[in-house]
Amino acid sequence: MTDTSNAQLQALFEKQKRAFASDRYPSLAVRLGRLKQLERMMIEYRQPMRDALAADFDSHHPLVTDLFESGAIIARGRYIQSQLESWMRPQVRELHPMVHGSSSARVIHQPKGVIGNISPWNFPIECALVMINDMLAAGNRAIIKTSELAPASAEVVRAAVASHFDGDLLAVVTGGVDLGRHFAMLPWDHLTYTGSTSVGRLVMEAAAKNLTSVTLEMGGKNPTVFADDGFESSLVERFLYFRVFKGGQVCTSPDYVLVPEGKLDQWVDMAKQAWTTLYPKYVGHPDATGAINNHHYRRVMSYVEEAQKKGVLVISLNGDEPNPKRRQIPMYVVVNPPDNLQCMQQEIFGPVTPVKTYKIFDDAIAYINARPSPLAAYLVTRDDTLVEKFSTQVTSGGMGVNVFGFQAADPTLPFGGTGASGIGCHSGFEGFVNFSNNKSIFNCADDDPLMHAIRPPYDSGMAQAFADAVFTPME
Ligand code: NAD
Repeated sequence: MTDTSNAQLQALFEKQKRAFASDRYPSLAVRLGRLKQLERMMIEYRQPMRDALAADFDSHHPLVTDLFESGAIIARGRYIQSQLESWMRPQVRELHPMVHGSSSARVIHQPKGVIGNISPWNFPIECALVMINDMLAAGNRAIIKTSELAPASAEVVRAAVASHFDGDLLAVVTGGVDLGRHFAMLPWDHLTYTGSTSVGRLVMEAAAKNLTSVTLEMGGKNPTVFADDGFESSLVERFLYFRVFKGGQVCTSPDYVLVPEGKLDQWVDMAKQAWTTLYPKYVGHPDATGAINNHHYRRVMSYVEEAQKKGVLVISLNGDEPNPKRRQIPMYVVVNPPDNLQCMQQEIFGPVTPVKTYKIFDDAIAYINARPSPLAAYLVTRDDTLVEKFSTQVTSGGMGVNVFGFQAADPTLPFGGTGASGIGCHSGFEGFVNFSNNKSIFNCADDDPLMHAIRPPYDSGMAQAFADAVFTPME
């Protein structure tokens, strides 16, 4: 596969801009046809996509590909197809008759135009394609830039899209950081970036020069709080199998755990028991996903080594040893590390879990809120009062109760971060809105009182009456 040159990208971009100019508001039927085409493409490419992910990660279970990479794209598209007619309907807004008489107002969702989508290596197929559903549904055209760190997946995404779509509607460009930089500088009608917070800042800076709106989907350290009543073996087991999912290389992975003081040993014992029962041997198991490359394998292992060097207890839950050749890392727990260790400073993105303690539930909330807002925050409890408190008091992109990542995976729900974990969202009706120009249209009737009130001269009395009404305190 040869990389796309800047000139080729420029030509594609201009072609899409021209095509958009010739059809600025595609009909429902046209949009549904495009979504169906994406669905057909995903079904046809099921096996090549499984093969590509297995090649990029060295080991990647085909059912993980089917369900959470390719299948997620199909599921999102089907849900949108079932909703699109109602989403495209103009929203009528009720005006106050004393202010506006029989005037009317509505909001239409106009396509933004040509959207750029920069995607990462960890979900190299899903992140490249899932939000294309939202973009096409909203009537846009798009160019995807895949990640150079997952080359087999990048190639399969390119080949699939090229075989099913005209380049003036949907296209893929492949290349590394240089192409990424150039991509971010183009005057897109909207730019979406999924990846690390540090690169997200650069992408937003580049977009700002063109006043291009952005959606930034980033990561961070997602906390999991076990409440006093959350110490059930099935819940600890559930935490572990979500934690290790895709080798922990998921933006919504639970990153670190907070448990009540005095219950740390109990949590570690329960985790050992649950993990050893699930996987007497995990490293080498067909379910295990490898780290994407040696750099990331070494990065995660360096967190383990640093903790050990500093005298912090690190436990491989079932006694597994790492396998550098296959880049597989055991499920490690780092017991009560100080906050200045790398494992408490960086997003881990691997199956290594620091576990810390809190005195009272409010302290756990304060600990989370004192750090950059995470993409996800998790609570393990059966207590609805705690759920209510955590939902309203913790600032995070999304939240899971007794589950991890499902808040980000269901097509009915918006998915996005806040603060350091992101801006904007995709998925759900909110995703459709995010990729639309939400345009207010006011249709003035001849009997509109406010319109008459501002007819000069202003001191005719009507404007005064309106102003006095506004400043009269309401009961
Ligand atoms: P990455 O290194 O693959 O980078 C992402 C993309 O940015 C690539 O296509 C890359 O070529 C491009 N890029 C790099 N430098 C650039 C620049 N200066 N200008 C423009 N583009 C540039 O991926 P990564 O950053 O290692 O991804 C992992 C991160 O992504 C994690 O933090 C994870 O939490 C986050 N993530 C977030 C979501 C989400 O939906 N919120 C989903 C997946 C991953």
